[in-house]
Amino acid sequence: MNIRKLAVAALAAAIMIGSPFESEARLKSNKSKKRPAIEKDMDSFITDLMSKMTVEEKIGQTNLLATGEIVTGEARSSNVGQAIRAGNVGGVFNLTGADRLRELQTIAVEESRLGIPMIFGLDVIHGYETSFTVPLGLACTWDIEGIGRSASVAAKEASADGICWTFSPMTDICRDARWGRIAEGCGEDPYLGSLISASMVRGYQGNLSSDTTIMACLKHFALYGASESGRDYNTVDMSRWRMFNEYFPPYKAAVDAGVGSVMASFNIVDGIPATGNKWLLTDVLRKRWKFDGFVVTDYGGIAEMTPHGMGNLQTVSALAMNAGVDMDMMSFGFLQTIGKALESGEVSMETLDRACRYVLEAKWKLGLFHDPYKYLDPKRAKSDILTPANIAESRRLSQESIVLLKNEGGLLPLKRKQKVALIGPMADDAINMGGCWWVGNHKRLPSTILEGIRRALGSEGEVAFAKGSHLYYDARLEENALAFGHGSRDPRSDAEMLAEAMRVAAGADVIVAALGESAEMTGEAASRSDITIPDAQRDLLDSLLTLGKPVVLLNLSGRPMAIAAESGKVAAVAQVWYGGIEIGYAVADVLFGDYNPSGRLAVSFPMNVGQLPISYNHFNTGRPHDDKNGFLKFQSCYLDVPNEPLYPFGYGLSYTTFDYSDISLSSNEMTPDGKITASVTVTNSGSREGCETVQLYIRDMAGSVVRPVKELKGFEKITLKPGESRRVDFTIDVEMLKFYNSSLEYVCEPGEFTVMIGKDSRDFHSAAFTLK
Ligand code: BGC
Repeated sequence: MNIRKLAVAALAAAIMIGSPFESEARLKSNKSKKRPAIEKDMDSFITDLMSKMTVEEKIGQTNLLATGEIVTGEARSSNVGQAIRAGNVGGVFNLTGADRLRELQTIAVEESRLGIPMIFGLDVIHGYETSFTVPLGLACTWDIEGIGRSASVAAKEASADGICWTFSPMTDICRDARWGRIAEGCGEDPYLGSLISASMVRGYQGNLSSDTTIMACLKHFALYGASESGRDYNTVDMSRWRMFNEYFPPYKAAVDAGVGSVMASFNIVDGIPATGNKWLLTDVLRKRWKFDGFVVTDYGGIAEMTPHGMGNLQTVSALAMNAGVDMDMMSFGFLQTIGKALESGEVSMETLDRACRYVLEAKWKLGLFHDPYKYLDPKRAKSDILTPANIAESRRLSQESIVLLKNEGGLLPLKRKQKVALIGPMADDAINMGGCWWVGNHKRLPSTILEGIRRALGSEGEVAFAKGSHLYYDARLEENALAFGHGSRDPRSDAEMLAEAMRVAAGADVIVAALGESAEMTGEAASRSDITIPDAQRDLLDSLLTLGKPVVLLNLSGRPMAIAAESGKVAAVAQVWYGGIEIGYAVADVLFGDYNPSGRLAVSFPMNVGQLPISYNHFNTGRPHDDKNGFLKFQSCYLDVPNEPLYPFGYGLSYTTFDYSDISLSSNEMTPDGKITASVTVTNSGSREGCETVQLYIRDMAGSVVRPVKELKGFEKITLKPGESRRVDFTIDVEMLKFYNSSLEYVCEPGEFTVMIGKDSRDFHSAAFTLK
């Protein structure tokens, strides 16, 4: 049956069963005519529809199902098909392909009593078929527009494969690199995180009017990135004051940008799981922030409240719905127990109506009542996925994401005539390069670093490759690290692999050691207690260093790692984030200087795991410590390691150098309704064009509550030719000086402020002003 016929059949079915929406065919033929039912405004349309719904059908709308694989042609007879037909499913996720999803939508539209369309979701986190580097890497680009464009590309591709809803952006602030999911977020800073979060929402959603944009889902609300000891799903406990000042801003920014849905997190907040937390989901999200989309749980989030210790499935399902959850992802708690909870009075009809209404509203906003097949055009997959423009965008952002951490003696960029030995267990592993949320159907594998170097060298130079080691000596640890990554442990012995690497490296002019973590060592359920380079690879590096050749370390990971020892031993270090279909080429672009690195850390690289959690915007304490003085008894410091991280937030080198003038302030005084300008002149003092990220930090010197030692408040990326200077102006107004006080009021307080402008959170010039 072709699409047109399907649409006609849908119309027939719609008329027979009194469907509330008009079919695609009718709408198309009716463009200029009056369209009675659908022309109503959203509220009256949904009120009308809900007046026809049974309690079961309302509950059905609150049920979100992961379908698993469904073979084309078999949807109708599958359990999923039956559940949809019975009106028990509001949406499905984890299935892609316009054809297959169209089959499911047809069942919902033509065969269920009211013909309500479904939404189709997926974790489109860092791109779809055209994958982008993992979100933490994207954050290191500090390219807010570019990150938004990556979301638009992802939306365009995912919608071409039938998806209209993504579980992204993930904007959990994280300061503890043990947590594997740090890879999925935007780093440690609320300001940078807020810009990224809003930009991604805009990129995914546009104004939702087009079939190439999709609905975003902000997650994980809230505080998931602050899990104790960095262990996934673990307890979170912090003051509300800290939540509001440090962890909530990126979530709020997404809400302000109009995000269509929010996902409740697995962790507890103030002693109550987020999924059942009324203060969080209703008082903060709905009442304070005026969120008007729908709230979905995380996978099984309702059922997980039972082991959390909140009661049986009926109790926790009622708790969730009463708290403000509208859709249950894979607990079946709403489906199985809300009927009973209505009878017992644990949940009111009004509450169920609220949940059902929000879900229906999302479908309206996506245009599904106007055209349930809006995102289900099988032709689009051919034209919109993996286009040269999409791939070029991914390459650009991958280039921008790479952070040059060290470059002693200007070892980088490499010369093409040099003989390069590329050594490392993941340097030629395409599957592994995919990153922690590599979705889509893997129509094209990511480029590997070996491919990238080969292509960059062409016939001009030589590269020899050896894996050199296993990921870990311990096969069990390596299996954990490869579990979902389809990889398998190299059958050779450690000694054989090392011998090969030493042979290969001995003939080279320069060694590029691509070491670190596999992609599966970050992302969900991938916490590590030791975030150093795994043992076998550390030893490999030490052996390579005995050859006395210059070594470039490419640290591959999805988290900041503790690489102080290795970084001390090699001449050059670059941080390469996983993911991105073009990542191998982007690495080669940086290695050979076809791209001058511009990435800046969105997260601190700690000296060691004991420093965690760590962030640049900490408080001063009553006993502040300056690392320059070494260990001092009775100061807030460690016996064995400085307080400062190895590489600070905002840090990143270039193949050129930039000099900063002192700061000039337009005034040393500011009134609450006034503004002042802080300016610096930045000069490219090196010999090639480069991009600098000029960063503005502010410190409130005294307040009614303690204030961070500095907070990022602005930045500008500028590109300068050798010898060129540019003045950069930052306008400071009171919005930049506001914070949440102990009563959670958003205020600014008069007094002294320090302005810092510079290359990163450690290297800056300062000036002072007073807010009257
Ligand atoms: C993750 C979410 C994800 C969901 C659906 C959960 O396990 O925590 O981030 O969106 O699964 O795949």
